[in-house]
Amino acid sequence: MTPFSYRCTDCGRTYARDAVRYLCSVCGEAYRPGIPLLGVLEAVFDYEAIHRDFDRANPDWNLFCPVEPEFHPPIPVGNTPLGRVDRLGAELGLSSLWVKNDGLNPSGSLKDRASFLVVAEARRLGMELIVAASTGNAASALAAVCASTSTRALIFVPEKAPKAKLVQMVLYGAQVVPIQGTYDDAFALSLEYTAKRGGLNRNTAYHPLTIEGKKTVSLEIWAQLGFQVPEAILVSVGDGVILGGVHKGFVDLQRAGLIDRLPRLIGVQAETSDAIHRYVESGVYSDATNPTTRADSISVTCPSNAHGARRAIEESQGLTLTVTDEEILEAQAQLAGRTGIFTEPAGATAMAGLTKLQGGPNRITGSGPVVILATGHGLKDVEAPLSRISIPLAVPPVLEALTL
Ligand SMILES: *Cc1c(COP(=O)(O)O)cnc(C)c1O
Ligand SMILES: [Zn+2]
Repeated sequence: MTPFSYRCTDCGRTYARDAVRYLCSVCGEAYRPGIPLLGVLEAVFDYEAIHRDFDRANPDWNLFCPVEPEFHPPIPVGNTPLGRVDRLGAELGLSSLWVKNDGLNPSGSLKDRASFLVVAEARRLGMELIVAASTGNAASALAAVCASTSTRALIFVPEKAPKAKLVQMVLYGAQVVPIQGTYDDAFALSLEYTAKRGGLNRNTAYHPLTIEGKKTVSLEIWAQLGFQVPEAILVSVGDGVILGGVHKGFVDLQRAGLIDRLPRLIGVQAETSDAIHRYVESGVYSDATNPTTRADSISVTCPSNAHGARRAIEESQGLTLTVTDEEILEAQAQLAGRTGIFTEPAGATAMAGLTKLQGGPNRITGSGPVVILATGHGLKDVEAPLSRISIPLAVPPVLEALTL
């Protein structure tokens, strides 16, 4: 671990590590559930120390980690494969296309990275209960990581979350409270719970270490590409915290003088859950009016990290776009059928965005590596693809029955 302090991403005030827990004491005062978070904190490290101590031949990733290794949960998280997908790349006019398969985390999504670090923090603080609101994956991730420790997880989740995700949470032993309402309702309730009844709140971006946990995917991508900065990274966007985390990983590398530029970040949202896209395009924030997308993990009315996501796009000279559910399910099938990687609809949203981008005026033309983040495993929601495929009927086990 390297010494760090927290800095408010809105006003720039800095805080000693234990002087603050969630939001900036000043900007956070103006926050109330139902608007994007204000006063989100970022960890600012002693970057000279990182520069001095980081050794590419033997990388110590704990230099970038804001919780001491002795508190890390025992369950291994991250270090997921980054694979080159030439067959798909050729179809999209890209000579160096890669997929980072974060569905291969223990609970099947990138959210394990954030939960890992928040559970580590709870252990450091001696707190025994962690509370979270989730569309499904953050909760499964928290439940899985907690299961490897003696920390308890209390989870508020929309009752309509896909079955497999609910099964995961319950089986991992979390206390699960399905909410008769939306993810946004669950988010507000969990804040009220920790404020009045206690526990450490893991809500995305509200706890600053969720962003720090998610940034590890960028450190890995950089190393897996032979310490090369990709040309672009495609990220599915709901609350905008994965996007913010991907950005922070490269910002940390840049501040430490280990890279000299950021990759272009391309944020992809579902057409009905497009608050961040419209915010980036117009500069004016307004909620998504009716997020009905099948990509449940990115179905958000009011994205908690809307401000941070917009900054990430602007600072990386990236862009955002939206895709329809049909494009998402088509991309899911294409990714599965061309690469062997089966990712849930929210994961395939990044791929759908790339397909759309390559067919238009903003297409990526450079020859540098382009990375699709596959954020969650396909088996988490088999109902979604079943709406457009059919399983062949059974035949008698005799050769004559086969027309193949
Ligand atoms: C949470 C999630 C996302 C979106 O991340 P945000 O931080 O909410 O933008 C994308 N894909 C999957 C599989 C997720 O679980
Ligand atoms: Zn502030």
